[in-house]
Amino acid sequence: MKKALLFFALLFSVTCIQAQDSVQIRKFYDEALVNGQCYENLRYLCKKIGQRLSGSAGAQRSVEWSKKLMDSYGFDKVYLQEVMVPHWVRGAKEQAYIIDGKNKISVPVAALGMSVATPKAGITANIVEVKSLKELDALGESGIKGKIVFFNGPFDPRYIETGEGYGAAGIQRFAGPSAAAKYGAVGAIVRSITPALDNYPHTGGTVYAEGGRKIPAAAISTLAANKLSSMLKMRKFPQPKFFFKQNCQTLPDAKSYNVIGEITGSQNPTSFITVGGHLDSWDLAEGAHDDGTGVMQSVEVLRVIKATGYKPKNSIRAVFFMNEENGHKGGLKYAEIAAANKETHIAAIETDEGGFTPRGFSFDGASPKLLKAINKNWKALLEPYEADRLVAGGSGTDIEPLKETVPSIMLIGFRPDSQRYFDIHHTPNDVFENVNKRELELGAASITALVYLIDRYGLNF
Ligand SMILES: [Zn+2]
Repeated sequence: MKKALLFFALLFSVTCIQAQDSVQIRKFYDEALVNGQCYENLRYLCKKIGQRLSGSAGAQRSVEWSKKLMDSYGFDKVYLQEVMVPHWVRGAKEQAYIIDGKNKISVPVAALGMSVATPKAGITANIVEVKSLKELDALGESGIKGKIVFFNGPFDPRYIETGEGYGAAGIQRFAGPSAAAKYGAVGAIVRSITPALDNYPHTGGTVYAEGGRKIPAAAISTLAANKLSSMLKMRKFPQPKFFFKQNCQTLPDAKSYNVIGEITGSQNPTSFITVGGHLDSWDLAEGAHDDGTGVMQSVEVLRVIKATGYKPKNSIRAVFFMNEENGHKGGLKYAEIAAANKETHIAAIETDEGGFTPRGFSFDGASPKLLKAINKNWKALLEPYEADRLVAGGSGTDIEPLKETVPSIMLIGFRPDSQRYFDIHHTPNDVFENVNKRELELGAASITALVYLIDRYGLNF
């Protein structure tokens, strides 16, 4: 009898906790949807500041404005964390055309971030098309020397989560130019990493191997890539040539900042939950989805917590990381300082997959047992908001360095719907108008809900 009573008492208390949690989570969503500020904050960031590549005047303005914004919310701490960042500039707009006999067919290209310039007169050369780094290796020096390598690996549409498709096709952008240089290529043209067929070159960073030759590298739009590929197939003798000219350069490193706001924990002030995105963005647009939405959601999490009167046990930080796009220096600095200060970090959540409808979260390195427990305890609370996919998976570039420096941390990626992100990613279309207010706010509320659950229960089930 005693045992049965105990069982029912326990069941009753568990049910009460669940009910209390669901009321609190409802409050977060109500606040974000009724009084939400992330959409208007994003409008300011996109329209009044705009592009903010590391080292640029826009980046500096975005740092100053972000700090002011956090100050205006009256968080317990707001500060800048200094970090040196690469300073790459695009220079005058690129030019490119296919030379087909006497015809010159103009094509849209954009220098890849961190690329070197072409000589002033541009580069004209024969083209060799490859679909993968494996094909490049098979051709070797005899097939590549003196040519422009055209990386034309397509974005595989079979990936349901488009981030996976991006990763798979992305290798040719990250590593292709440097690999081509090894075999004596004079330049590299990379098919834009997108499932969309359009006329925008999607820029993005490339990485040269340490000590290797650096050749100019540019993204080409998917439509132009298809045209070039079919011309190469049709016209065997003489083959079309390619011309491109770009004027980018890398200036000395610049001083910049991560921007950090904090609500100090009421019970464990030296124990942290971080939520962040990156403040820098490519120079071709406004960095709306990448990653204006992420930073504005992060600060909204703290604002919503404060506005609803929830007093977290642990300290909650919103971090606007600098330099995710072309160096990751902000993320590295944050991890370095967390370790130097011997901070305890429970979890870090990154939102850098666009401001689309929330679906859930991915937990980096979570064991099946832990995932099962997370789902058992939390899934039902997030289900009413359709943000209850709690799965294993990656987190985000900015928080990843914490894995090395803060061993017990759980890294988590915010997972919105991924179907439209890579249509606009790193193009002039990444503008405020392409962000939906409700989707953005639902995302902010979902992240707040997860932060709350982690704050209350930790991740040691
Ligand atoms: Zn991003």
